[in-house]
Amino acid sequence: MRIQSANFELSAISLDSCPDSKLPEFAFIGRSNVGKSSLLNVLSNQAALARVSKTPGRTREINFFTINRTWSLVDLPGYGYAKASASDRERFNEFVSDYLRERENLCCAFVLIDSRHEPQRIDQEFVQWLVEGEIPFALVFTKSDKVKPSAVKKNIAGFLEAMAEWSEGQPPVFTTSSKTKEGRRELLKFIEEAITT
Ligand code: GDP
Repeated sequence: MRIQSANFELSAISLDSCPDSKLPEFAFIGRSNVGKSSLLNVLSNQAALARVSKTPGRTREINFFTINRTWSLVDLPGYGYAKASASDRERFNEFVSDYLRERENLCCAFVLIDSRHEPQRIDQEFVQWLVEGEIPFALVFTKSDKVKPSAVKKNIAGFLEAMAEWSEGQPPVFTTSSKTKEGRRELLKFIEEAITT
């Protein structure tokens, strides 16, 4: 898929304020610092697409972008913000969980995981919650340029192995680097196939 346009639509703070749109949606989520903004910029060919989500005070919003006028890219707040107060965390989790559980045009949630690390509990818990809620998702292992390919492979295998204890089947898995653009084509192809079938 060639990216011809990427337009910021709106920032939502509740399910009610999400766009009244029927376009298929692809959401991106992960711990803060996992490389989400960099990946969204690379995917959309926009140097600063995800900048809005990083503005202080706006990190709990869900940001919607329309790509090629045919699908929506949804930037979800990261989980595991150390700085948010407990009550903030609760509220933000509630909105994200409402979105993931109830948004009818959500096609896939891409869960970003840092490929440098062995399986982390917070990522596993989040993925388990998706599985239990029957929310469609794929795993995206980021920053693959930062470690040896063998280490990336080992960490992915470790994650899938840990998952196998509570999940049947295997989700789609991607490996990406915003530096080398590894995985960009595969991710866009996956999205293209999902919206044309
Ligand atoms: P976010 O908090 O998940 O949006 O993460 P950012 O995209 O802001 O990235 C966090 C840090 O990791 C920044 O310093 C990025 O330059 C760096 N980074 C992100 N993706 C990559 C990658 O694929 N390769 C390398 N080498 N660094 C990356």
